[in-house]
Amino acid sequence: MRIVLISTPIGFLGSGKGGGVELTLNSLVSGLLSLGHSVEVIAPKNSKLLESNEKAKLYFVDGEDQISWQHQNYNSPVIIPDNSLLAGMLEKGLDIVKKADVLINMSYDWLPIWMTLNVEIPIAHIISMGAESLVISNLISKVYARHPYNFAFHSKIQADDYPFIKKPIIIGNGFKLDNYTFQDSTKGPLAWVGRVAPEKGLEDAVYVANELGEKLKVWGVIEDEIYATKIEQSFPQGTIDWMGFLSTKELQKELGKCRALLNTPKWNEAYGNVVVESLACGVPVIAYKRGGPSEIIQHGQTGYLADPDDKKNMLSYVKNIEKIKRKKCREWVEKNASTDIFANKVVNWLNKVIHEYK
Ligand code: UDP
Repeated sequence: MRIVLISTPIGFLGSGKGGGVELTLNSLVSGLLSLGHSVEVIAPKNSKLLESNEKAKLYFVDGEDQISWQHQNYNSPVIIPDNSLLAGMLEKGLDIVKKADVLINMSYDWLPIWMTLNVEIPIAHIISMGAESLVISNLISKVYARHPYNFAFHSKIQADDYPFIKKPIIIGNGFKLDNYTFQDSTKGPLAWVGRVAPEKGLEDAVYVANELGEKLKVWGVIEDEIYATKIEQSFPQGTIDWMGFLSTKELQKELGKCRALLNTPKWNEAYGNVVVESLACGVPVIAYKRGGPSEIIQHGQTGYLADPDDKKNMLSYVKNIEKIKRKKCREWVEKNASTDIFANKVVNWLNKVIHEYK
């Protein structure tokens, strides 16, 4: 297949602003290339693909970012800025796809989904979030009625946010295992990885570390400075060890030294890339039983699922972390979330989408 991909309209690839979509895109490109497909990616100016994805052709578009939907009200209208990056990427995609088989849209936004109703080109949407916007959910419902195969989700629990989707197509996610080294360090610090923003619940992980009289190592882009400062001020100075935003290569090296990852989502996390990345390094994960992580973590085998928002319950599981075998964590990723497994699921889905247009 010849596949064209549109990246997220929030931050360039490599900036971290696009969250998990940046890594998911790279994993998908790796998997599709290794299955022998041709891949072209349309992404914001300054974007970089992983070195191993150099066979994919990269097109740059310059323009204004979209506002991320998780930071707008559920009832907000769609905002499209002047010189819209999203519109520019879509325009380019619709042009290139004339000589290709399918256009994959990785932005969670209105315009590309609406366009599906207005062109005879298969546009396949990887929905990267739960229902964060009424206007988008209603549009997905409308497009789904005409094109029931054009949407895929990362987890069943994410798809539940869209109850009108009768048989959701679940593609999971994939990780390039060569990029993660297994480390058997059971005595390391506690880790937290993610965008520092309210929906990620960092404060609960800091609480757990502080109760144990430990520091918490935190990696990720600080998306909301006010929120970050507020958490910092609520705990003794130095409880948070801010480690910044690292490339996958550097992040996994440091993360692998930790004894557990705490994952504290306050929203219906679509998947939770950081959970699987941690497991790939051999680091067990203690997460709230909510969203994607609740489908990924095998309670008592690869980590623990704590009652949502119950910090004390999470704390009690940290004390039992040595019961988890780190090798089992890595094995789960190898068996369930490699780039090849992911790309095969996506290709099966794309075949269904394309078939509908013939
Ligand atoms: N990440 C990274 N470097 C860091 C911290 C985070 O590359 O220092 C990446 C991580 O690899 C993951 C993404 O940030 O792919 C966060 O994705 P996740 O699915 O966990 O949450 P999202 O941001 O999409 O809500």
